[in-house]
Amino acid sequence: MSSLLIKGGTVVGPQGAIPADVLVIGEKVSAIFMPGDGPVEGDFEVLDATGKYVIPGGVDAHTHMELPFGGTFASDTFDTGTRAAAFGGTTTIIDFAVQRTGEVVQDGLAAWHAKAAGECHIDYAFHQILGGVDDESLKAMDQLVTDEGITSFKLFMAYPGVFYSDDGQILRAMQKARDNGAMIMMHAENGPAIDVLVKQSLERGETDPIHHGLTRPEALEAEATSRAIWLASVAADCPLYIVHLSASKALEQVAAARDLGRNVFAETCPQYLYLTLEDQLGAPGFEGAKWVCSTPLRSKHESHRADLWKGLRSNDLSVVSTDHCPFCFKDQKELGIGDFSKIPNGIGSVEHRVDLLYQGVVDGKLSLARWVETIATTPARMFGLYPRKGVVAPGSDADIVLYDPSARTRISVETHHMNMDHSAWEGVEIAGKVDTVISRGSVIVSGDTYHGRKGHGQFLRRGLSDYLL
Ligand SMILES: [Zn+2]
Ligand SMILES: [Zn+2]
Repeated sequence: MSSLLIKGGTVVGPQGAIPADVLVIGEKVSAIFMPGDGPVEGDFEVLDATGKYVIPGGVDAHTHMELPFGGTFASDTFDTGTRAAAFGGTTTIIDFAVQRTGEVVQDGLAAWHAKAAGECHIDYAFHQILGGVDDESLKAMDQLVTDEGITSFKLFMAYPGVFYSDDGQILRAMQKARDNGAMIMMHAENGPAIDVLVKQSLERGETDPIHHGLTRPEALEAEATSRAIWLASVAADCPLYIVHLSASKALEQVAAARDLGRNVFAETCPQYLYLTLEDQLGAPGFEGAKWVCSTPLRSKHESHRADLWKGLRSNDLSVVSTDHCPFCFKDQKELGIGDFSKIPNGIGSVEHRVDLLYQGVVDGKLSLARWVETIATTPARMFGLYPRKGVVAPGSDADIVLYDPSARTRISVETHHMNMDHSAWEGVEIAGKVDTVISRGSVIVSGDTYHGRKGHGQFLRRGLSDYLL
């Protein structure tokens, strides 16, 4: 069995930063030693981690490889997307299997397994999107939890006619989740109201990308978030996880519920922490299409970004995921020229999340421990992957990143590995760099060199969330 000794680094986890050496045997972390106390000689390779942070591999709990959307498909396959994730220090993704309205849930899941099997460079798991809640799909929820290792279900309060569930359907799915221990993940935007605003906007001749944001106002995210929280309370405090939270007033709803001790959690994404309605979505001409995503980027003249960083510190926001859903500009984003409502929704960031959040450490907005917690440990615990993933500890999978705080990363379409013809982060510089990436004991990235392979990644059956009472 191959062995690795990671020597001289600083191991960072939720408990803080500790100088230590890490011994990996086979696919697992075997032992953690005081510096220099590890084995001196033997059949192992030594990785010098001097001056580097040794962190658990990133867990990105929200990606959409090959998602069908608006007449096209997200441009990363499981092959290209997981390879890009690996370059960026993410060693586990949780992607969303899709049940479209009218489709059998298990068929949607089987289709997702078929897309991913043998293609992934890192380990992967699935949430299940429910595009139609009825007697059959409610039964399927039990079967997925019991037999398939799928313990979280995404519902949509937006996209009528595509993924939308009405309040009665949402309540039924929440009651089922309360019974079987699953997590309900909610896309919380009031879709029917948004559709009215979109129609009115287009009738006024407003076709540019910025109107995507202006027709999805904060109030309709806050209202849906609040409604989801109330519905979950009717379902006997069913566990609820708000995805891609972008707005201050939505965060207030989550914070208030958490103050009452409710099973309510939320994630945000890097784009909401850094990018804005005016500077990106409002870029001249059709350029803003690169940043069309839902929920939308918010105004820089309001307090959203500062509040989201604060929410991450206070744990009202527990997780940072990417909502990676890349579309090329040419032929994909361009579907919406002359009509912003036809622009495929999504930004590609799976490669950059670990770096972008490390910049928050450099900027004094997050502690080192909180960085690791929000990108790795908490998502693993939230979605039933801990302690196999999300921590560097004896017995855990040896998914480890050596992070170099003295190097720099410059993001560009010229150098990224995602299958996109542009970058939403073009020219952004990070004061830190992913140096080495280890997935289940194998070094898959060192410096800019790739050693991984398609098919190395395994499907992970998940347990229930650690955070539930
Ligand atoms: Zn969503
Ligand atoms: Zn999503």
